Amino acid sequence: MHKRKLWVVLLAGLAGMAPAGRAQEKQDAKPLAREIFKELIEINTTDSVGNVTTAAEAVARRLRAAGFAEKDLQVAGPNERKKNVVARIHGTGQRKPLLLLAHLDVVEARREDWSTDPFQFVEKDGYFYGRGTQDIKDGAAILVANFLRLKKEGFVPDRDLILALTADEEGGNFNGVEWLLAHHREWIDAEYCVNLDGGDFMSEHGKKLYAAVQASEKVYVDFQLESRNPGGHSSRPVPDNAIYHLAGGLARLANYSFPVQLNEITRAMLERSAAFHDGGHANNALPQRARANGNCRILPGEDPQQIS
Ligand SMILES: [Zn+2]
Repeated sequence: MHKRKLWVVLLAGLAGMAPAGRAQEKQDAKPLAREIFKELIEINTTDSVGNVTTAAEAVARRLRAAGFAEKDLQVAGPNERKKNVVARIHGTGQRKPLLLLAHLDVVEARREDWSTDPFQFVEKDGYFYGRGTQDIKDGAAILVANFLRLKKEGFVPDRDLILALTADEEGGNFNGVEWLLAHHREWIDAEYCVNLDGGDFMSEHGKKLYAAVQASEKVYVDFQLESRNPGGHSSRPVPDNAIYHLAGGLARLANYSFPVQLNEITRAMLERSAAFHDGGHANNALPQRARANGNCRILPGEDPQQIS
């Protein structure tokens, strides 16, 4: 279950652009960030049945209302469900633009696997619940709230600030960053990018716990397991069956412990995070369901229910 407390990161400090004496706007940004966060969580942006464009347009509506000109605000993508939103705050041009990035899509979520509706924003006991609260609609909300605040302040940074909230980072065939680079690179061209998906900020009950910055990405590999034998009629004894061999292989794999390998970064991360992890905060999404099909031939007179 994804849950976390939103900490409104004041990106002004990050980008070296914090105007002094704007404490009130900072305070106003917190409820606004929460409101945007709720709005985004409650828009289903899964690949299967969701719609990223709805979320992109919700963000664009807020930016437009805050005074972003049409030329500085784009909602575009390869099809009606996968549009990205890009916005720009103009700076003096002294330095090259900075791109601030998050994605709008989320991993699939089945209602029966959750204790709450994954597309309903719930705050309970100091935690937020809902698909995307951790990955990464919190980051998207933080960026939008800050862009609205900076626009309201009329702040002119020494470089253009570009906001890009994109489709299909989690899956699907229309990765927003790739699409923008291929079709509208000029919209997002920047000296460097801060990707809110590449790190994490966490606070609990008002206490700031950590600010993490991702140093590298794990290598993604899929292995498909397949066993073969000459085949034959499915009423033949089980040991001749490819399923039997595959099941045996999976059982051996399940019992196998991969050797622990640490490098300088992972060792430091584990040492530092051991102090505040209680074992209940899974940052990854583990498979919640696996399925195999075994074809059975049951003697006449046997009850199939007894076999299953
Ligand atoms: Zn993500």
